[in-house]
Amino acid sequence: MATNDGVSQPGAEWDEAQCKAALARLEQLQEDLANLRLNLPRVVEPFTSHSTSSPAMFQAFKKSVVASQNDIRSIRNHWHSQDVQSIFEHTTQSLNKNSDLTASANVPRYGWVKAQTKEKEAARRKNDGVQKLEDTVVNLTNEDVTRDILEFQKTHTNIKALTKDDNQNLLFQFVAGSVKLRIRVVIEREANGRHKLNAECLGTVEPFLAITRCISSRPKVKDFKYLLDMIAAYKNIKGTSCAKCSRLIDNAALIPTARRSKQIIGANGTPEIVWEAFHEGCLD
Ligand SMILES: [Zn+2]
Repeated sequence: MATNDGVSQPGAEWDEAQCKAALARLEQLQEDLANLRLNLPRVVEPFTSHSTSSPAMFQAFKKSVVASQNDIRSIRNHWHSQDVQSIFEHTTQSLNKNSDLTASANVPRYGWVKAQTKEKEAARRKNDGVQKLEDTVVNLTNEDVTRDILEFQKTHTNIKALTKDDNQNLLFQFVAGSVKLRIRVVIEREANGRHKLNAECLGTVEPFLAITRCISSRPKVKDFKYLLDMIAAYKNIKGTSCAKCSRLIDNAALIPTARRSKQIIGANGTPEIVWEAFHEGCLD
């Protein structure tokens, strides 16, 4: 419970990731505290059972008391841990610097633990993707981008593709189902001729955040055409259920926010690429 999960020392300025890690830590602490409410009913429970013998009743009572003490000890340790104390200290310093807390009304109380778990999973998938790609790195020239975009615009007339900054900043806009999606792709060129493709679905709430995570964790992260095909798949696979669990919405009530391709053998015996929809949690 008390691991150092990205929560930093007080004093220094915290970045977004550190604040999110701190919020997740506090949410977990709050949940552990809330669970303490069940301890009294648990301790009393053996006495409400008339069929149990006295020694068995005492054993059950003893077990519940010990478990309850362990829970309290665990919360105390967590509360006094360096991480949590750092958070308290940081919030005190931050409050002294600026006592206007009105912006905090827009910060959700729940969901930080879940978001942190998802981000870790996405980072792991992204790392896997980068490793798989290293042997297939291709250079991407500006001419390649121009040609691929033109071809994309011809094939996908229902997707608006805007380019600026000499093709380095691209925006794709379309309506998928009832949701308007805006996906931004920024091509970052490094001095050694390599490039990075940063793609983001614009929006600060779900499903947009999940779509960004699912695009970021895609395989072939440097393949521009693959990314374009993935964007098109968000438009072209409609109201579909997840290719893995077959359900329309997952436990978080989210639609399938990922698109992944697979190769199949087509009707005439030639290999074809098809795109499928997945929930974020259903990705391998
Ligand atoms: Zn699924």
